[in-house]
Amino acid sequence: MDFEQKYTDEQEQFRKEVRVWMEANVPEEMKEPINRRADFTEEMFEFWKPKFRELAGKGWLLYTCAYPKEYGGGGRSAAQETILAEEFHRYRVPRISNYYSLPILLVWGTEEQKRQFLVPLMKGEEFSWWKLTEPHSGADLASYQSRAVRDGDDWLLSGTNVFISGRGMPDWLFGPMLTDSDAPRHRNLGLFFIPCPAPGLEVRAMSLLNGDEQHFIFMDNVRVPGNHLIGGDHQGWQVANTGLEQEHGSRGQAFPADPVVDSLVAYMQERADEDPVRQQVGAAARIDGHVHDLFTKRTYWMHTGRLEAQWEGPASSLYGREYGLRNAGRVREVMGMYSLLDTHDSMAPHQGLQEAEQRNSLQHMHGAGSLNINKVIVARRIGISRTRERSAPMHATAPA
Ligand SMILES: Cc1cc2nc3c(=O)[nH]c(=O)nc-3n(C[C@H](O)[C@H](O)[C@H](O)COP(=O)(O)OP(=O)(O)OC[C@H]3O[C@@H](n4cnc5c(N)ncnc54)[C@H](O)[C@@H]3O)c2cc1C
Repeated sequence: MDFEQKYTDEQEQFRKEVRVWMEANVPEEMKEPINRRADFTEEMFEFWKPKFRELAGKGWLLYTCAYPKEYGGGGRSAAQETILAEEFHRYRVPRISNYYSLPILLVWGTEEQKRQFLVPLMKGEEFSWWKLTEPHSGADLASYQSRAVRDGDDWLLSGTNVFISGRGMPDWLFGPMLTDSDAPRHRNLGLFFIPCPAPGLEVRAMSLLNGDEQHFIFMDNVRVPGNHLIGGDHQGWQVANTGLEQEHGSRGQAFPADPVVDSLVAYMQERADEDPVRQQVGAAARIDGHVHDLFTKRTYWMHTGRLEAQWEGPASSLYGREYGLRNAGRVREVMGMYSLLDTHDSMAPHQGLQEAEQRNSLQHMHGAGSLNINKVIVARRIGISRTRERSAPMHATAPA
C-alpha cells in the first residue's frame, strides 16, 4: 500500500490559488513568530482579524473550511483542508481559531443558537475561548464549583478560572457552570456562552513559562440571557464532552507538522554529523515523529469518514505529548547549549525554534487536560478500567 498523500490536478490547482493569496497577503513581519506565545503582538492580532474574515469568506479558514456551508463553513473536502493546513504551515499563518466551540454548537445548539453564535464564529467574525479549568481542580472537571443561578429568564454566573488560553481578546467565553449543587456529578452542570466583555467579568493575563497566552477569568454575577445555555440545564457535562472529545485528539489532524524534528534533522544534515550516538538520537526523534504523524492522520481519516474514534484520539494525543517531551531531551543531547539560545540571540540555530520548544514541550503536559487524563480515557475505552466509556458525539458522528 502506498501511504503517500497524492493530489489530483484539480486539487493542485486549488493549492496554487491559495499560494497566490498567501504571497499577496502574508507579509514577513506578520507571520507566526518562532517564539509564538511570547512574540505574538496585539498589532498582529489586529492585522489577522480581517484576514481571517476574508479567508473564511473564501471557505479557506482552517477548521471552519471543513464545516457546513449553511452555517458559514467552507464545505471543503478533507483533501482541501489538508492542502490549506499545509499552506498555512508553509506561510506561517497564525492560528486563532474557534476549534472547540464549533463542534459544541454544531452538535448541541438549537437552530436559533447556531444562527446567533455559530455563524459569526465560523465566518471568523468572532472568537471564543474555552473556559474550563478552576483553581482548585483542573483535571477533575466534574467537581466544578463556578455557579449559575437563575434570575427570571436570565442566569447570573460567578466563579474563577485559570490557564484559559487565547490570543487578543475573545468575543465569547464558553464552558460549564454548576446549575444544581444537589444533583450528582455529571448531572449538575449547564454549558454557557458568556459575552466578553460584560459587567462583572474580568479577564487578566497569566504569564507562564512560555509566554502570555493564558488568562485568569473572574466572574461576579455576570448576567446572561436564558438562550445562552447550550443544551439542557443539567446537560453541561455531556455538552462539554463534545469539545473535550475534540481536545483529546478525536478529530485528528490533516497535516501534523513537526517543525521541531525537521529542524533537528536539518541541523544534523547541515553539520554532516557523523557521531553514531547522536545519529541514533536523531533517528529516534524522526521515528517518534513519524509514528505520531500516522496516529493523527489515521484519526483524521476516521473523523472525515464519519467513523467514531474511541481510544485512537486520546492515544494519539497522549503519544504526541510524550514524544514531544522525549524529543526536547533529544534536541538537548544533539545540540547541547545551542538548543537553549533564544529567538533574539544571533547564534541561535533556526532562529531559536528549539529553545521555545524546550519550554512548550513542558507546558504541553498540562494543557488540554493532564497526561493522566488521556491515560484514564484510553484505559476506559479499551476495557481495562472498571469504568467503561464511549466517545462523545462529534459533528462528524452525531446524527444530523
Ligand atoms: C499552556 C496551558 C494552556 C491551557 N489552556 C487551557 C484552556 O484554554 N482552557 C482551560 O480551561 N484550561 C486550560 N489549561 C488548564 C489545563 O487543562 C489544566 O492544567 C489541566 O486540566 C490539569 O489541571 P491542573 O493543572 O489543575 O492539575 P490538577 O488537576 O491539580 O492535577 C495535578 C496532577 O494530578 C493528576 N490528577 C488529577 N486528577 C486525576 C485523576 N482523576 N486521575 C488521575 N490523575 C489525576 C493530574 O494528571 C496531574 O498530574 C491550560 C493549561 C496550560 C498549562
